[in-house]
Amino acid sequence: MKWTQYFIPTSKEIPADAAVPSHQLMLRAGLIRQVGAGAYSYLPLGYRSLRKVEAIVREEMNRAGALELLMPALHPIEWWEKTGRVEAMGDVLLRLHGSGDDWRTRTVLGPTHEEVITEIAKAYINSYKQLPVSLYQIQTKFRGEARPKSGVLRTREFLMKDAYSFHASKDGPGGLDETYDRMYKAYCEIFSRAGVPYIPVEADSGAIGGDASHEFMIPTDAGEDYLVQSEDGQYAANLERAEIHPIEGADGEASATINEVHTPNLSTIDDVSNFLKCQPCGMIKTIIFDVDGEPLVALVRGDHEVNEAKLARAAGVSSVTAAQPDMIKKLTGADVGFAGPVGLKARIIVDQAVTLMHDAVTGANKTDYHITGVNPGRDFEVNESADIRNAVEGDRAPNGSPLAFKKCIEVGHVFKLGTKYSDSMEAKFLDNNGKPQSLIMGCYGIGLNRIMAAAIEAHHDENGITWPMAIAPFEVVICALDMRVEEVTTLSNKLHDEMSAEGIDVLLDDRDARPGFKFKDAELIGFPIRITVGKRGLAEGIVEVLMRRTGEVHKIAPGEVISFVTKQIEEAMKNERT
Ligand code: ATP
Ligand code: MG
Repeated sequence: MKWTQYFIPTSKEIPADAAVPSHQLMLRAGLIRQVGAGAYSYLPLGYRSLRKVEAIVREEMNRAGALELLMPALHPIEWWEKTGRVEAMGDVLLRLHGSGDDWRTRTVLGPTHEEVITEIAKAYINSYKQLPVSLYQIQTKFRGEARPKSGVLRTREFLMKDAYSFHASKDGPGGLDETYDRMYKAYCEIFSRAGVPYIPVEADSGAIGGDASHEFMIPTDAGEDYLVQSEDGQYAANLERAEIHPIEGADGEASATINEVHTPNLSTIDDVSNFLKCQPCGMIKTIIFDVDGEPLVALVRGDHEVNEAKLARAAGVSSVTAAQPDMIKKLTGADVGFAGPVGLKARIIVDQAVTLMHDAVTGANKTDYHITGVNPGRDFEVNESADIRNAVEGDRAPNGSPLAFKKCIEVGHVFKLGTKYSDSMEAKFLDNNGKPQSLIMGCYGIGLNRIMAAAIEAHHDENGITWPMAIAPFEVVICALDMRVEEVTTLSNKLHDEMSAEGIDVLLDDRDARPGFKFKDAELIGFPIRITVGKRGLAEGIVEVLMRRTGEVHKIAPGEVISFVTKQIEEAMKNERT
């Protein structure tokens, strides 16, 4: 491929609205162009890279025994109503607007495909003899993301590989656990081959529990999630899921008696702690949740946050939602902001750290009042205590090793679904006793655009992208330094043609431009190998081979270049595995 016949709109300017490196570099290198919030075109160079990611994903899915199919983006809303996800997804589920009850009104744009695949399974899988089976697609997803950001890391339209597996049993040969393990390994292989540094973490899986879900995270400041990792490397989980080693014995003991204090209009932890000159960690935060119309009260320290997933698990319910003011008022008899556990008649789950507190400050269940000198066990009963808060700096992992926090982004997710969708859509098979059973399912998703952007987040320097060889748009660029010198043109063309014939992805920069200009573009785009063909080198009988990542320069005789470059490419593919 020749540069002058290609389409590479590079730019020197740093785009004003691009905050993260991958976004800036993808725009500047001419890989993408924004169409609207959360929607991007992939220009030819960017699309090459995306296609390479796609090829790796496809190869590993096929190797894992999954079969490729293709499902549409247009789904009947009835199927989503059946699984209860019209409500659960809220604004994320994009709907077409029609008049009245016409087909548009009854159509949604698929943000994922559990409903559609389960309908296929329901239609065609009748017997345990047809199981297990794994199906996947690489297809465009639509999601009404409230805040699309960071370029292609979070968009409203993106390419996902989504796989679904169907089983007659959870364990044993052909069971869900077996396929889950195989998919987990396939994911490790995908990220490893793509050269992105990944960390698999235990993820929250709602009501299913156990080790039923893992997310694959890439540490980056551009991410919006946090992962929590123990210093000894033995434990990693997402923040939602991370378990905490119980805090041990707090200082002091109960000494004060309860005292009511007037705190007019002071309803936040900060307001009250400033006013009463106490630390937030000396306050008990009382948060009221709504579980199917009944209040559920959570107590955490003033400097901690309730983790709703942990709370739901501790309470044995599928989910909790924040209570509305009228429920809070009815329960406490006070306005929002003045709730406390003393005298409260409701189910109360007390965070483990709260059980160790002494002489604490909390709400008085009376508008504009708090109480001080509150002691758990003495002033209110502790019937149920659990770990219901988010881990914070200073906490330790279950094995006692200190926890560190890292900002990250999720690139993949494997999930043991069980019978959630087959139950609601009545997708059943006959087991070996001829009895109807719900299909047992797993699902496995990977965002292709996100892998590409995450690779750039992990691999760039001040001059541009430093692509992993496996997903670089081109492996090699030949910079012909003076296209007016016949020797240079002839050799450049010859190298280009021979490399192409060898299957090397090579681009010949045949523009009539200054060397510095060409080099800057080559660095920005980040071709892993740059071959410089120039008058001066040729006089010495060499061309220069520059490795983008390390900056190493090799002077190679023209006749040796192809074998040298072939070897460099092979080695990079091996050494850049993560
Ligand atoms: P997040 O928590 O980041 O919103 P998610 O949990 O909604 O992601 P899944 O539903 O598990 O994501 O989707 C599977 C994969 O699709 C993710 O691991 C990610 O790589 C990709 N993905 C999800 N949402 C987006 C998005 N808005 N833009 C780009 N890729 C996405
Ligand atoms: Mg997820």
